[in-house]
Amino acid sequence: MSSCNNECSSCGQSCDRRTAPQSFLTPLAKGSTVKKVIGIVSGKGGVGKSLVTGLLAARFGKKYHTAVMDADITGPSIPKMFGISQRATGSEDGIIPVETATGIKLMSLNLLLEDEHSPVIWRGPVIAGVVKQFWGETLWGDVDYMFVDMPPGTGDVPLTVFQSVPLDGVIVVATPQDLVSMIVSKAVGMAQMMNIPILGIVENMSYISCPDCGKKIYLYGESHVEKAAEEYGLQVLGSIPVDPLIAECCDRGEVEKLEDEWLGAAAEIIEALPGKE
Ligand code: ADP
Ligand code: MG
Repeated sequence: MSSCNNECSSCGQSCDRRTAPQSFLTPLAKGSTVKKVIGIVSGKGGVGKSLVTGLLAARFGKKYHTAVMDADITGPSIPKMFGISQRATGSEDGIIPVETATGIKLMSLNLLLEDEHSPVIWRGPVIAGVVKQFWGETLWGDVDYMFVDMPPGTGDVPLTVFQSVPLDGVIVVATPQDLVSMIVSKAVGMAQMMNIPILGIVENMSYISCPDCGKKIYLYGESHVEKAAEEYGLQVLGSIPVDPLIAECCDRGEVEKLEDEWLGAAAEIIEALPGKE
């Protein structure tokens, strides 16, 4: 083929010189590079997946060129968490991501919808197509770390998103009750079947701290995170308490102002990922 560059894994053409199977992965827009892509997953919604995505992005944004891709198309909450209400704009070359107060680049369906309160009642393939477009048609520029707020669960939509974005690793977010049910094992099993490294588990809403004496109160009994992590052969990357300040900051769009004391170990693991040139 005349235009052959011997990059079979990213080429959609079928020719007799093909040496690698065709990839589902969409190439990035011209001029964009994303060095590391970390997916934040959970077995179900409402467990703090977006919170962990926001906290990690805010932490990395202080040191690196950071981006967040909101792949939770039917429940996009990233723009609100960062206090973004303007719409994304476009140019001939692609979609221009919106930048947060601290310079984190965001792309989310809510930045494109005319009315962000409208429900998104689309079927799986349409949703997956949007995620592919976010990846391939957003003018990301140079990004060191991209955090992807993945769709919850283990169905059709998360599966296609897993196949569409070249994840370097995933972090599983779970509540204490998920850890003792099958919810986490399904999320873990899915990532394993897709051959994506699981960097570890973050337990959210794990305890409350007594405002008077600071004692940790475990609402669901003693934490099971260590035991569950051991069972799955994973590392515990942090435990986040239930704290009204967290909810308030997220509601006010000030996740970047939260003093994150919980995700230091997660950040270290992400920073230690081997380079991809
Ligand atoms: P998910 O993305 O998994 O659906 P979110 O991160 O959006 O979940 O969290 C769901 C709601 O719970 C949000 O309103 C968020 O502010 C709140 N929330 C999450 N974690 C905590 C926490 N540890 N303490 C207080 N509120 C929390
Ligand atoms: Mg969410």
